[in-house]
Amino acid sequence: MADEFELIERYFLTKSHRKDVIMGVGDDAAVLRPPSDMELVVTVDTLVEGVHFPTGTDAESIGYKALAVNLSDLAAMGARPAWITLSLTLPRSEEAWLSAFCEGFFKLARYHDVALVGGDLTHGSLSMTVQAIGFAPRSSAIYRRGAQPGDEVLVTGYLGDAGLALAAIRQFRELDGESLAYCLGRLNRPTPRVEAGLALRNCASAAIDISDGLVADLEHVLRASDVGASLYLASLPLSPILQKAFAVSPDWRLPLASGDDYELLFTAPQSKLSQLYDRFVFIDCMLTRIGRIESKAGLRLWDEEGDAYHLEQAGYNHFRL
Ligand code: ADP
Ligand code: MG
Repeated sequence: MADEFELIERYFLTKSHRKDVIMGVGDDAAVLRPPSDMELVVTVDTLVEGVHFPTGTDAESIGYKALAVNLSDLAAMGARPAWITLSLTLPRSEEAWLSAFCEGFFKLARYHDVALVGGDLTHGSLSMTVQAIGFAPRSSAIYRRGAQPGDEVLVTGYLGDAGLALAAIRQFRELDGESLAYCLGRLNRPTPRVEAGLALRNCASAAIDISDGLVADLEHVLRASDVGASLYLASLPLSPILQKAFAVSPDWRLPLASGDDYELLFTAPQSKLSQLYDRFVFIDCMLTRIGRIESKAGLRLWDEEGDAYHLEQAGYNHFRL
């Protein structure tokens, strides 16, 4: 069986063609050269089996998602990803698993031209921590705290598909084969909205990525910005597959409160909307207006009849009982 160093050499000692990587994997630490006119944007996320992905999820999806969730965080800041580190804890040295993991991980890394520059490999329960570092021009990063009364609330892509997949896995929902395949794809291979995030620079007043659920994540923006909002259920972007599931039995918790969508949720003043839509013409990603920022604190949901809608549980919180 291969030891730690052989595994690192075989799977993680990748050559990057990025010129800003002076020393990557293979020494005691990486040496990197950030562009002098940029700010560094840094994020880290841990994925634990049974918590962040169901036990038994295929290794390629795990590798993909471990990186995708971090690229999504950089996207929400309006940053372009450049470098990543990976700390991996494995229950055993199983090369078929590692090889599939790397397949998913590096496929996404190559697509976004990010270089793996270091990491760690340890023995224990399956978990991984990815750190991603990106660049944003000075003073152009987008924060949660900038939403203003009168701003529109917008979201990329569709909401609730990943939640539908989880409902099917937990056997709360029965889905036909095509629907299940589609939502599992959305759960296991979320598309980090990197290009969309870059398009938000100088247009969005606040942004966040939806990892815990639309309502929970919008509430982070509202609290940080010290504002409130109205959201309109009829405006929420639901995929054809989710609409089909709604025809059987509607459940607004799916688009509102289930996590793992990894779409971008952001606010923008109305004066920036046409510029935003112009930019999105060249990005393969939908954009939908779903609500409005208001000065009155709190989040108000409105149903299709214009009546107030009450949501039971807002989102996933690791330490809430
Ligand atoms: P150290 O004992 O100095 O921490 P390691 O033996 O852990 O060194 O790592 C050797 C080299 O391999 C380092 O450059 C480290 O960044 C890299 N490395 C280790 N594990 C990984 C991994 N999973 N992915 C990428 N690089 C890794
Ligand atoms: Mg080490």
